[in-house]
Amino acid sequence: MNVLKFGGTSVGSAARMKEVATLVRNGQQNIVVLSAMSGTTNSLVEIANYLYKKNNDGANELINGLEQKYYNEVKELYSTDTYKQKGKELIEYHFDYIKSFTKDMFTAFEEKAILAQGELISTAMFQYYLEEQGENSMLLPALDFMRIDKHNEPDTSYIKENCTKLLKDNPDYAIYVTQGYICRNAFGEVDNLQRGGSDYTASLIGAAITANEIQIWTDIDGMHNNDPRYVDNTHSIASVSFDEAAELAYFGAKILHPTSVLPAKLGNIPVRLLNTMEPDAPGTLISSKQEKDRITAVAAKDDITAIKIKSGRMLLAHGFMRKVFEIFESYKTPIDMITTSEVGVSVTIDNNKHLEDIVDDLKKFGTVDVDTNQVIVCVVGDLIADNVGYANKIFNALKDIPIRMISYGGSNFNVSILIDEKYKKEALNALSNNLF
Ligand code: ADP
Ligand code: ASP
Ligand code: MG
Repeated sequence: MNVLKFGGTSVGSAARMKEVATLVRNGQQNIVVLSAMSGTTNSLVEIANYLYKKNNDGANELINGLEQKYYNEVKELYSTDTYKQKGKELIEYHFDYIKSFTKDMFTAFEEKAILAQGELISTAMFQYYLEEQGENSMLLPALDFMRIDKHNEPDTSYIKENCTKLLKDNPDYAIYVTQGYICRNAFGEVDNLQRGGSDYTASLIGAAITANEIQIWTDIDGMHNNDPRYVDNTHSIASVSFDEAAELAYFGAKILHPTSVLPAKLGNIPVRLLNTMEPDAPGTLISSKQEKDRITAVAAKDDITAIKIKSGRMLLAHGFMRKVFEIFESYKTPIDMITTSEVGVSVTIDNNKHLEDIVDDLKKFGTVDVDTNQVIVCVVGDLIADNVGYANKIFNALKDIPIRMISYGGSNFNVSILIDEKYKKEALNALSNNLF
């Protein structure tokens, strides 16, 4: 069995959904994971923001606009009156539910229930379409098997047990349609796997059922060697290793959700990145195979804050690092990059929620400098120490750009460089010109 995930653009209109139907009808048994139609989750986030602010008029205006868009899509998607009517009732049902939140208290619990509506609607619409076309398909409710634990980590044994049981109880379908992104939490409430999390759903399902392959269908022909939003003439890479893909996804290659590579890697399940608009293009294969002697790609992660702690006492002081790290741990704030010298240590974080408290606590150990609006530029490839020359190429490319931190040797696949956000585009382009 394969897992095929289609992102927001791929199911972004009735016409696109019809294209997806032709791709999932391929003679094999497939689990089809769908995102919300493009723009929907952003709109739902905005609606929730209005509801938090108790601005019901603002919320209602957005809700009505979104509802109308969906009525137009269902009119176009179905060809028979029966399904046009079913589609209309489906949209009414979900939007009545969304509107019900304008009349009551609004908390994080209600917000998550609203955010789940995008995937619930797109999958129900798609399942009706397959039914109308006479396909042998069923809807597999993600809320019946996808779960996170009390640390917000996927509960992989629960997912495996319940997903395989659902499939075993319903064995004879060619296509199983399910929602990306949404799940239940440890309390059984509706929750989600964070923005972009449909990729994670696909990977978790792939690992749970030991799929032959996980396919991530999107709007570009695979993993490119640099960020196509900032650099022209990037190109698709035929194959990358799980480790390279994980670094790239974590450090900003938006094509994959940051944590989506790990379940596939642990299950050794190949992941193929494919383009819905160009289904015959080879795309990118992510597998355990590591290509030798090459720089694979560059990515950049935004909204980074660098914190430097300088301390005379660090000199020969064992336990200093532990104290520093404990402060970040106590605020549940992960550290991305670290560099050290005899008199200080610099770290980066991508979550400023507790920045003030962290800085306050760090001041017990030394003087503290903070730089916000930083970017981690990450060069990924076969970067083991024996491969001489690559570091030189990288720094030569960046010779005119002020560098705040450098991290090399943490893994065999990554060199990370911290720069100010204002140099991001220049840095990505310079690296492209020098490395590829
Ligand atoms: P989906 O909605 O299908 O999940 P996303 O928008 O999340 O799609 O991801 C696809 C987008 O990721 C592409 O359109 C592209 O702009 C962006 N992207 C950023 N970095 C890369 C990269 N290195 N390779 C390919 N795409 C990238
Ligand atoms: N619909 C969700 C989002 O926009 C999940 C996803 O598309 O992966 O973030
Ligand atoms: Mg995505």
